[in-house]
Amino acid sequence: MDIQKIKILYIEDNPSNRNLVHYILEPELFDYYEAEDALSGIALAKDIIPDLILMDINMLGMSGTEATIKIKQIPELTSIPIIAVTAKIMRGDREKIIAAGCVGYIPKPIDVDTFRDKVLEIYRGRKENLKPEEEIKYLKQNQAEMVQHLENEILKLRENQRILNEKVLELEKKNQELKETENMLVHSEKLAMAGQLVAGIIHEIRTPLTGIIGYHELLRMKLSNPTLLGYLNQCIGAVDKIKNIVSNMLNFAKRKEEWTEHISLKDIFKSVEGLIQILSKQENLSILIEMPKEELTVRGNAGQLEQVIMALLNNAIYAVKVTQKKEKPSEEPLVTLKAGRIPSAQEVFFEVRDRGCGIPPELQNKLFQPFFTTKPINEGTGLGLSICKTIVESVKGRIDLDSETGKGTKITIYLPEVR
Ligand code: MN
Repeated sequence: MDIQKIKILYIEDNPSNRNLVHYILEPELFDYYEAEDALSGIALAKDIIPDLILMDINMLGMSGTEATIKIKQIPELTSIPIIAVTAKIMRGDREKIIAAGCVGYIPKPIDVDTFRDKVLEIYRGRKENLKPEEEIKYLKQNQAEMVQHLENEILKLRENQRILNEKVLELEKKNQELKETENMLVHSEKLAMAGQLVAGIIHEIRTPLTGIIGYHELLRMKLSNPTLLGYLNQCIGAVDKIKNIVSNMLNFAKRKEEWTEHISLKDIFKSVEGLIQILSKQENLSILIEMPKEELTVRGNAGQLEQVIMALLNNAIYAVKVTQKKEKPSEEPLVTLKAGRIPSAQEVFFEVRDRGCGIPPELQNKLFQPFFTTKPINEGTGLGLSICKTIVESVKGRIDLDSETGKGTKITIYLPEVR
């Protein structure tokens, strides 16, 4: 025989009560649904249009009495019988629940033996009634309780708002502190990087340079042959070049923090060229610099842009070194630095490309986070790229990463062009 099942919705915040009722109401007769609070219960009721609702009264947030009043005001739900299931058995509780619109009342704790029959009995028409004067009295009580509840909720909201405002202020302060720390880090990382290079290289250069200059003076006094004096001048020319490189490095380390300057990428490339040549020899790998053919002007801080280039090159060199690739003359260089412009976007760019190990996809979005590093301890602070990002964004630029594991990485910095 085909029985029409009763679609039943139990709104109850206590999971063990829900489990018990689900267990009691046999699936042959009941199509069981449940909700853990009044608001989601009302939403579910609108969705499934149950034949019957079981309603817990004492719930956090909206109470069962309030939910019943609300359901009775929703046209498509208004005729659905609601049975209160509650431990509220004080004098007047039953009346208040009936006045709110429940057809009946089953007390808690739930009695496994009788619960199902009580549900069916109330569902099949045993409606409880109140005398008219009683109904008015208890409706008024419900009303008074709802107003009280509302007042409490408003007070709670105000308190939450106050706490939230405090938290926002706190966060703003923390954010400010972070920015200041970041600025300090930009500076100290730069000094550390430049300082390390400069110290190492100046040490290497100083001793031979002193010798060359000293002996040059001696030779100039002894020589009278113009050809030989010519050779000597060639030597001095070479010494001057070395002096230039050293002073470039000192500029790099000492550059003033000036933000409004217009700078030429060509000048930046020239300024780091000497450093890169030294780095290239030191690491025994060729770094190709493609000098920009035209003037590419951006606004920013020359020292910091140099710092970005050097940081990117350092990473590129590291990525190549870990793969232990050997250079072949037929192939493109292992590390390339170049610049150019995108006229349509009024942007200039510079990019550092390497044919190193590449970055696995799952690490790519972590790359610019402070202190993220794949290098062994003592080899990297994990600040290089996060500082690059800070510098680039401070001049309204952006960084683009294109990397493939095993093939290499290209990092491109786009900057607004000044024309
Ligand atoms: Mn409850």
